[in-house]
Amino acid sequence: MFRTEVELRGALAWMVGEEGRGIRTIIDMVAMTRFDCMVGSSAGMRQAVAQAIHHCDNRKAFGKHLSDQPLMQNVLADLAIEQEAALLLTLRIASALDRRDQEAENLLVRIGTSVGKYWICKRTPGHAYEAMECIGGSGVMEERIMARLFRESPVNAIWEGSGNVQCLDMLRAMNRETGSLDAYLAEVELGRGGDRRLDRFIDSLAGEFVETDTVEYRARRIVEKMALALQGSLLVRYADKAVADGFCGSRLTDENSGWLYGSLPVGVGDCSSCFTRCSLAITERHWQIDSRLR
Ligand SMILES: Cc1cc2nc3c(=O)[nH]c(=O)nc-3n(C[C@H](O)[C@H](O)[C@H](O)COP(=O)(O)OP(=O)(O)OC[C@H]3O[C@@H](n4cnc5c(N)ncnc54)[C@H](O)[C@@H]3O)c2cc1C
Repeated sequence: MFRTEVELRGALAWMVGEEGRGIRTIIDMVAMTRFDCMVGSSAGMRQAVAQAIHHCDNRKAFGKHLSDQPLMQNVLADLAIEQEAALLLTLRIASALDRRDQEAENLLVRIGTSVGKYWICKRTPGHAYEAMECIGGSGVMEERIMARLFRESPVNAIWEGSGNVQCLDMLRAMNRETGSLDAYLAEVELGRGGDRRLDRFIDSLAGEFVETDTVEYRARRIVEKMALALQGSLLVRYADKAVADGFCGSRLTDENSGWLYGSLPVGVGDCSSCFTRCSLAITERHWQIDSRLR
């Protein structure tokens, strides 16, 4: 994975965009690479979940397979939910990229790549680390895939515009690209009615945009909430009901949200054996999701 910087001296050049609109011009180009970051991080999460579940399905401790132990079920389910949410958001932006000739889809790409890249890439290192811990001591060994997944996990958040830059870019889109916030909100609203916790979360999001003086200071929290609302909306529409319920019950309510993976409320973790069995079918399910998004 090497790229190079080239310095050109005395070279002939043509303006590729309007003078004074350099950021606007380059944003169109970086949308694709930012989307690549979303794809790469979602794929890394998928691999991490597969590795963790495979290990826990085969490793016995305290007389039972790890995947049959309630506490580990909670961790695996939480990791699987995160990965499904990441992939679904990525596929929704992929679908919008295919339809940029439609204004609403083009605006969704503009704002959605900042929101999606920020959140998915930021969530990946913690996810990789937790999956590594599911595997235990051998998860840390350099010979195993987890060490590489973990080592690579921060890079997508840093390059092509680091976290703060994504947040500032979302604000720029909101303020300068007329209709981009509306396009985002319209997409989120499609999930309204699918889950009462999602509905309340969407309502609370609207309040974040009222106070404009402090909006830059609060931008990370705003973008985080925007990502969660969009993921929730997509999950209630396209995902397995247990996954959508687990996501809304753990990510969209204050009382049930833990700081670390494995903090799902009772009722959600119980479904994790289902996630475990379904895990190898996840890829197939994603293809189905993808075709429905089109
Ligand atoms: C492996 C790798 C390969 C790369 N390949 C390429 C390449 O091929 N071509 C290329 O052009 N670049 C490449 N990059 C560069 C990469 O895109 C930048 O490093 C990245 O965008 C961060 O920019 P920076 O290093 O200038 O950090 P800075 O811009 O100095 O940012 C440092 C920190 O400050 C934050 N920050 C910046 N501005 C603000 C602000 N206004 N408010 C609050 N916080 C702010 C950032 O979020 C970041 O956390 C590569 C980077 C890596 C790691």
